[in-house]
Amino acid sequence: MSSSDGTPDQSCDSLSVFRGIPAFGTLRLSTVRISDLLTQPGTIVPEGSVWTACPSCGRTQHMDEVPVKETSVQVIYECAGGCGPILTMTFAPINPTPAIHMRDWAVENPSALFCRPITGDQESIRFPPSV
Ligand SMILES: [Zn+2]
Repeated sequence: MSSSDGTPDQSCDSLSVFRGIPAFGTLRLSTVRISDLLTQPGTIVPEGSVWTACPSCGRTQHMDEVPVKETSVQVIYECAGGCGPILTMTFAPINPTPAIHMRDWAVENPSALFCRPITGDQESIRFPPSV
């Protein structure tokens, strides 16, 4: 029986495992929010600097002001007026749904999504509706 001399470059495995094992049902994503996806090195976007309009009532709402539902693979922002979802984040979606893809998440926004980084002189950034 020969000893294994296979490729030793499996060090990344621990990272990808930590990012989530869907079979376990409970992803340990520790409360990912849309602001986390929009925040990048040099571009800090707080939750209160992200906004979109409700597709039903048209009211513009900041993401720190609306109810948020969370499952193991989805984060759903809802209209404060009770109309329903105004933004949905899906972790590693199986279906290639039309969405803004950021990191491992697909973001579905029925209305244009805006964010305004608090860093630098950056103006607000507009993401067109994806669904
Ligand atoms: Zn509404």
